[in-house]
Amino acid sequence: MTDNTIKIDPTAITQALIRCPSVTPLEGGALDYLQTVLEGAGFTCWRLPFSDVETPEVDNLFARIGTVSPHICFAGHTDVVPTGDESLWTHPPFSGEIDRGILHGRGAVDMKGGVACWVAAALEFLRDNNSKFSGSVSLLITGDEEGPSVNGTKKMLPWLKANGHVPDHCIVGEPTNSEQIGDVIKIGRRGSLNGVITVSGVQGHSAYLDKARNPVPELARIVDAISSDPLDEGTEHFQPTTLAVTSFDVGNPAVNVVPGSARAQFNVRFNTSHTPATIEAFVRERCARFASEFTVDILVSGDCFLTEPGPFVEVTSNAIIEVTGVTPALTTGGGTSDARFIKDYCPVIEFGLVNKTIHAVDERVPVADLNVLAKTYREILQRYFAQNQL
Ligand SMILES: [Zn+2]
Repeated sequence: MTDNTIKIDPTAITQALIRCPSVTPLEGGALDYLQTVLEGAGFTCWRLPFSDVETPEVDNLFARIGTVSPHICFAGHTDVVPTGDESLWTHPPFSGEIDRGILHGRGAVDMKGGVACWVAAALEFLRDNNSKFSGSVSLLITGDEEGPSVNGTKKMLPWLKANGHVPDHCIVGEPTNSEQIGDVIKIGRRGSLNGVITVSGVQGHSAYLDKARNPVPELARIVDAISSDPLDEGTEHFQPTTLAVTSFDVGNPAVNVVPGSARAQFNVRFNTSHTPATIEAFVRERCARFASEFTVDILVSGDCFLTEPGPFVEVTSNAIIEVTGVTPALTTGGGTSDARFIKDYCPVIEFGLVNKTIHAVDERVPVADLNVLAKTYREILQRYFAQNQL
């Protein structure tokens, strides 16, 4: 049953969360607070601390109300990045002060504000429906998004699977909007990988080139080819795959010695036209063209994913249009998020606050934005369950 004494105000919830100093990997009381609020509204909560070698132990929270499908999950984090020099902040970073309609504090937009808006929306949805609806609402809240991201979402998902909690759909509440609430839904992300090319030659005296084999011009030709040959032309939802050579190292202090090897490193942001294997093949083909002896090492940091627009994206889009009057762009730009782990389990999209002040001194959010986002999440819940009852 919903506890009517709970104040369903996204701003008050955001303030309470900001006052918990949960600088990653510390819990700071933020998950305790959420657990109390959610249990008061009828959610069942599980605390899921995980640890691993060479990473700090991290506390996480999964909360669910309802036991059947359709199951919509909100994924987020309560850990925050450090404040830096606190004296540079106009308002103390963990005070949650409101100044002329703007709430200040570390995590205000990334992403305690987003978490608070979902909590407020869910509590209001339950209250308005007397907790009678057919389906499940859950929250997957990690304390390890801003850290190594090893002991959070990545390990929670196998636990959800083992315990029958895999959602049907997931919204990651990271701040996606660039100017105003409603302008951007992220429906995918490009993948990212790093590579190192090492070309081996034969070291020798620069006056006797016939006895040496210089790897520098060979590597230069390879770098030119992989930098100028396009990998693809982009797709309907993605910009073209990009390859950036980020260093070219010979490390040779002697001007009269042909070096024995030369090395270049590169970063690739790839779309759904590629996999790490096809990118490696692209690079190797050009290496083989210009060098006789080389190695290529690839390290994948995040896979590419796309949630094809369909009923779930439509429900979200229509809720946004209804509340904000803005038609959201469906984009796939930007860096990685925990959605990269969730996409292997269920369709996932990202929608939250405006991202202008994330990780900055004086991180802040207009109270009006919190109200609009909470209302939008509330509308998403209403439409999500109405649609699935059809
Ligand atoms: Zn974040």
